[in-house]
Amino acid sequence: MTAPLLMIPGPIEVSPAVQEAFCVPPPSHVSPKVIEAFGLALERMREVWGASAASQPFVVAGSGTIAMEMAVVNVVAPGQRAVVVDTGYFSARMAEMLRRRGAQVTMVGAPVGQAPALEEVEAALAAGGCKALFATHVDTSTGVRVDPEALAAAARRHGALSIFDGVCATAAEAFWMERWGADIYLTSSQKAIGLPAGLALMVASPEAMAARRELGAEVPMSVDFLEWLPIMTAYQERRPSYFSTPATNLILALAVSLGELLASRVGELTGMAACFERHRRAAAAMRQGWAAMGLELLPEGGLAASSLSAVCYPQGVGPELTREIAARGVIVAGGLYKGLQSTYFRVGHMGHTTTRPDDLRRTLEAIEGALIACGHPIEAGVAVAAFNAAPTW
Ligand code: PMP
Repeated sequence: MTAPLLMIPGPIEVSPAVQEAFCVPPPSHVSPKVIEAFGLALERMREVWGASAASQPFVVAGSGTIAMEMAVVNVVAPGQRAVVVDTGYFSARMAEMLRRRGAQVTMVGAPVGQAPALEEVEAALAAGGCKALFATHVDTSTGVRVDPEALAAAARRHGALSIFDGVCATAAEAFWMERWGADIYLTSSQKAIGLPAGLALMVASPEAMAARRELGAEVPMSVDFLEWLPIMTAYQERRPSYFSTPATNLILALAVSLGELLASRVGELTGMAACFERHRRAAAAMRQGWAAMGLELLPEGGLAASSLSAVCYPQGVGPELTREIAARGVIVAGGLYKGLQSTYFRVGHMGHTTTRPDDLRRTLEAIEGALIACGHPIEAGVAVAAFNAAPTW
């Protein structure tokens, strides 16, 4: 029997080359192989993030939540003001972290499936004294994508830093850190970066690094930019170093996965522009499939992310659908937004599977079969036919 296809919004399927790099006997953190891979990964991160040579990448063992914590505590001191763009579950987590840091938090929200208007965010920033604006690039609970370019520009206009949680977006959704003037873009390894879980990743702008130096508050040691900076510098210079043991197998795999992302090609496009376009087209083709099956998305219109689809259950169908889909060899996720969990399901389409349209077809086929089994009146084959009619990549 073929192994089930993991189509949740992270962890995701990884490429054979990544798996090969990861599945080796654990190397030492000061072995030449790890030092080279670490240095290469840091260089490649700047390219994947579209970040300047003056920016600082960090790779720390951990998860997306640890990356969020690291961003919060290095930039915001107790008593300072922060504005959070609230698009769902993970923005609420960011706000709670800020509150625990002692910050004064202003939330700018919108109804589920929507994002707040830029003017509302701008009004919160204009109230003055805001140290940083926080936003979730793609909220994994709702599939809503915000516009980081506009938000970063708004933050700059009001003298605030801009910090983006890219856990469900980085490497899948367009993001050009230097061009857009963003200050921290953070993620974790198990989503579109294309690795198993276990790494917290981020790039900080020179302004974010300056904010850490001027912070005037203690930063917990294990997540302090200034503890990690000499370590990152050492690896960049291909020197051994130690502060806290890195996840060495993941570091080997990280250099490979970032290399794969940068080697993307779609038509005339190369590098990250191609990688983002591949995800955009894959998501568009999946949306053709949803429409053909009479399914609606949770996010409104143009806000639907490229990295995942949050799909509403049709009339008469509920969470039993995900079990029916699993019985057909494809794993998808249930709803996550509080109070609405039983009204929709989520399908990840990021990373390796976007290079394999057959995996996406297999996913649509399994969902279609499951819907039919649950009594939804559609004809077998409509989803894949609609997918096949979409522009290829
Ligand atoms: N932010 C977003 C947008 C996420 O999707 C997630 C994880 N699904 C996190 C933060 C937290 O990441 P982790 O589970 O790796 O701690």
